[in-house]
Order: sequence, then structure tokens, then C-alpha cells
Amino acid sequence: MHTKAVTHTESTHVVVVGAGPVGLATALLLRARGAAVTVLEAAAEQAPRLGSRAIFLHRQSLATLAAADPVLGAELVGNGLVWGARCTSFAGREVHRRTYVPPPADRAPFSSLPQPVMERLLRAACRRAGADIRWDTPVIGVTSGPDGVLVRTPGAVHRAAYAVGCDGARSAVRRAVGVRLRGPRSPHAFLVLDVADDPALPLPRERAFHYLDPRMGGRNVLTVPFRGGLRVDVQCRPDDDPDALGGGAADWLPALLPDGHACSVTWSSHYRFQQVVADALTDAHGRVLLAGEAGHLFAPFGARGLNSGIADAAAAADALTNGDVAGFAAARHRAALLNRRAAGQALTHLTAPAPRHRAAQRLAAAAAPRSRRAGRWLDSAPYGPRDAGIPRSRY
Ligand SMILES: Cc1cc2nc3c(=O)[nH]c(=O)nc-3n(C[C@H](O)[C@H](O)[C@H](O)COP(=O)(O)OP(=O)(O)OC[C@H]3O[C@@H](n4cnc5c(N)ncnc54)[C@H](O)[C@@H]3O)c2cc1C
Repeated sequence: MHTKAVTHTESTHVVVVGAGPVGLATALLLRARGAAVTVLEAAAEQAPRLGSRAIFLHRQSLATLAAADPVLGAELVGNGLVWGARCTSFAGREVHRRTYVPPPADRAPFSSLPQPVMERLLRAACRRAGADIRWDTPVIGVTSGPDGVLVRTPGAVHRAAYAVGCDGARSAVRRAVGVRLRGPRSPHAFLVLDVADDPALPLPRERAFHYLDPRMGGRNVLTVPFRGGLRVDVQCRPDDDPDALGGGAADWLPALLPDGHACSVTWSSHYRFQQVVADALTDAHGRVLLAGEAGHLFAPFGARGLNSGIADAAAAADALTNGDVAGFAAARHRAALLNRRAAGQALTHLTAPAPRHRAAQRLAAAAAPRSRRAGRWLDSAPYGPRDAGIPRSRY
């Protein structure tokens, strides 16, 4: 026997699609500006959110979120860490080191913590702010017009003044409004591993970039501490099988860690970079906005993915409270292009496609013991320019 699905209609001011970090930040910032918000999330509330992924929350993102909820701001710092040193080695020899005393928590320059922890804290902040989050509620269609939006989920239609698509790289909202991501997809693969802290043998709290690391057969390796563990990013060679390389971690990982470390791998993944930006960050009626990975994907070096998503969230919340959606579309599209260019510079440095790139790195490594400038360049270039060129914002 067939039963006919009942479709009911609900109204709210803004529907946010996706309860990833950008959707949660958007909901929180909208609530802080007094807007009524419903968040529709496809996954179940208890669905596992795996892996460290975006571990670096920049000062600007912390300030944006703390302005909406100071408790959240303090928790994001308290549950993260600030490393006290950054160092660079080249072909097995340390060529640059900078140590600094981490500032007090209220002036943390960043916080390094796993993305699932950020999301847990953001969910709690959204609950405090009164955002209505619906789990197990996939969005299956969006229609916009001059007066508002209809967002369809199984069994219901949500009527809203605006919708913000924060539904990630495969965004259904983006597809529904006919917007496409454009840009190059890099063939370079990176292997990512999370290694758990070993209480018996704490890891040094330093971020390290190893050019041409002999312990990894001459591959580039980045290690970044976060609260609870260490993130290891290995730049694969074109002929590497990333699955096989990751599967064999027990053979090479101990060489990267202090002698006797437990080397417990809690998550492993690999991915290829995309450097893509949506044609437009709103629909034709200015009623549907795209934020975070629904609107752009960048190579991760320089941490522009999540941090620019939080800048999008703040701009979207401002636009929906002051009515300047066109301003959002123009400013954040320009920001996405600048972020992509900055991430592209990091990518070019890392992959060093031309002999002149490799020669510049070799010469800088040779000069670094006498030239702080050369050492600083080798140390900072893997992350791209510090400022992408966006007025009053780093992202
Ligand atoms: C292996 C890996 C490593 C990474 N490393 C880094 C890093 O080092 N630095 C960095 O900055 N970033 C990194 N990232 C990217 C970072 O994880 C993203 O920037 C961040 O998750 C983007 O957040 P978002 O909220 O835009 O999208 P997502 O986190 O993808 O969230 C989208 C949400 O929307 C939901 N959703 C999807 N479709 C629908 C639908 N139809 N209806 C309702 N809900 C829907 C999803 O279930 C999800 O909860 C990494 C990602 C991966 C996979």
C-alpha cells in the first residue's frame, strides 16, 4: 500500500543549509544580529565527524565568533593550543627556527584544535543563541523569486526571506540556483594523518616544514600540533599511490616522531587540491547566498578554507540584516578570488614546477644560516602571502 507523503509549509526569516562549521557560524552570527534562523542539516546529530581537517582558527575568526558569543571565544582558545616555535629544515638540516612565548589567552594569535571539537563548541553556542537546528533533514530543492525562497526537504517546504547555502563542496543549493564552481584542479595529492598525543612522550609544540625530507624519501612533510595530537601532511609524488603510502605508515612514521613514541594514527585521508570559485555567490534574485565550501575550495596551505568561510558567514549575516546582498556578493567573490590566488602561490612554492623554483629553494636553504631573510622566506612561503589583499580582513 502506498501512503502519500504529507508536505507541510513552515516560515522563518533565514534558512541556513548545512550544519558544518560555516553553517553553524552563519546561524550564530545571524542570531547575534536578531534574525530568526532555521538550520537544515542532512546528517544525523550523532553522525561521526572524523579527522582533524581544518585545525587552524585565525585571530580574526576567533574575534568574529567571540563577538557573537564570548563563551564560545574563550572555549575555542581553551580547547586549542598555540605552538611556541616554527622551524624549517631542508634535506634533513634545520635552516630556520623561530621561538616565541605564547601570549595570554585573551590575545591568542590563533587556536589549533580539531574541526570536530570546533563544531561541538559551535553547536553548543547555537543552542545558547536559540538557533533551530534540524538534523536528518536533507535539502532536495531550492526555488527563489523576488520576494523570498522556498527550500524543500522530504515532507516539508520551508518558506524564508533568504537562504544561505553552507552545504559544502557538493552543495545542493549551489546546483539548485544554477551556479558552477570554476577553476583548476591540481593533480598533486597530499596524504594527511592524525597522530594522537602520547602522554608518556609529549610532542614538541612546534610547527615544522621539512623540504625534501630524507626520512620520507625526499618528499615535503609538514607537521602541525593541535590540542590532542599532531597533524602530518605528506606531499605525494606524482607516481605515489596515496593509499599504499598511508597504509605503510607504520614503516615510516616512527622516523618522524621522537624515539619510543606510541605513533597511534587516529585518522588518515588523502586529497587533491581544488582551486575553484563559484561564478557568483548569490542567485539572480539576491535571495540565496553561498558561504564556505559551497562557494569556493582552496588548497589548504595558509588555512584559507575555514577562515574565509567564517569571513563569508560574518558578511552574509551583515548583508541579511542590512539588506546589502549585492555588497556581500561583490566583496566575498573578490575575496574568494584573492584567497585562491594566495593559496595558488603556496601551491606553486610547494610543487616547485620549474627548475627556477627548486633552485630558489636550494639557494635560500644554503643562505639561511647567515641570512634571516632567506630563512624567513623558506619558512613562510609554504603558506602563501600573509595578507591576501582584502581590505580590513586577512581572508
Ligand atoms: C582531508 C581534509 C583535510 C582538510 N584540511 C584542511 C586544513 O588543513 N585547513 C583548512 O582550512 N581546511 C581543511 N579542510 C577543509 C575544511 O574541512 C573545510 O574548509 C570546512 O569543513 C568547510 O566547512 P563548510 O561548513 O563550508 O562545509 P562542510 O564542513 O563540508 O559542511 C557542510 C555541511 O552541509 C551538510 N550538507 C551537505 N549537503 C546537504 C544538503 N543537501 N542538505 C542539508 N545539509 C547538507 C553536510 O552534511 C555538512 O554537515 C580539509 C578537508 C578535508 C576533507
